[in-house]
Amino acid sequence: MSDRGLRVVDLEHVDIAKDFMSAPAAALNMCCYGAAVYDGERCTCWESVVEPEPTQDVQEGPMPVNAQRCGDCAYRRDSPERQLRDGDGMPYVPGGVFLCHVGMPKVVRIEHPCGETRDVPPGVENDDYRPVERGYRAWQADGRPAVVCAGWAADHRAYLERGNA
Ligand SMILES: [Zn+2]
Repeated sequence: MSDRGLRVVDLEHVDIAKDFMSAPAAALNMCCYGAAVYDGERCTCWESVVEPEPTQDVQEGPMPVNAQRCGDCAYRRDSPERQLRDGDGMPYVPGGVFLCHVGMPKVVRIEHPCGETRDVPPGVENDDYRPVERGYRAWQADGRPAVVCAGWAADHRAYLERGNA
């Protein structure tokens, strides 16, 4: 399957609203304008820490389709994503492609320049993937092309077979 023309839709960068986090006590509300003006409540100094560190030396070649759905594939019947949808299937968006999260770099914590770290907030901790992206393509942390989700690929084949090629 060619990945040309498909837009990556799965890579939502979940904004954890770092701009509205409180400043560390050690910063004495003097680390930035937001902390100073809003009594420490709107510190803008926090940075996302992404692991594994994605290499920029990415490999050529198409994004392969996964042979099988991964262990915690969103397309599995009992996935948290489908539970949120009352068990309904994942939405199929023509022109989009859903990528497997396995091997993708993601935000694992947030760090303040003063040295304090905080956990990614619950509900976001497994969602904020930050792969290298260029155009319509994305890569795993080790530089291999991202892998197209097998569940999405099945929906895509069904869509094409319905005469929507
Ligand atoms: Zn600050």
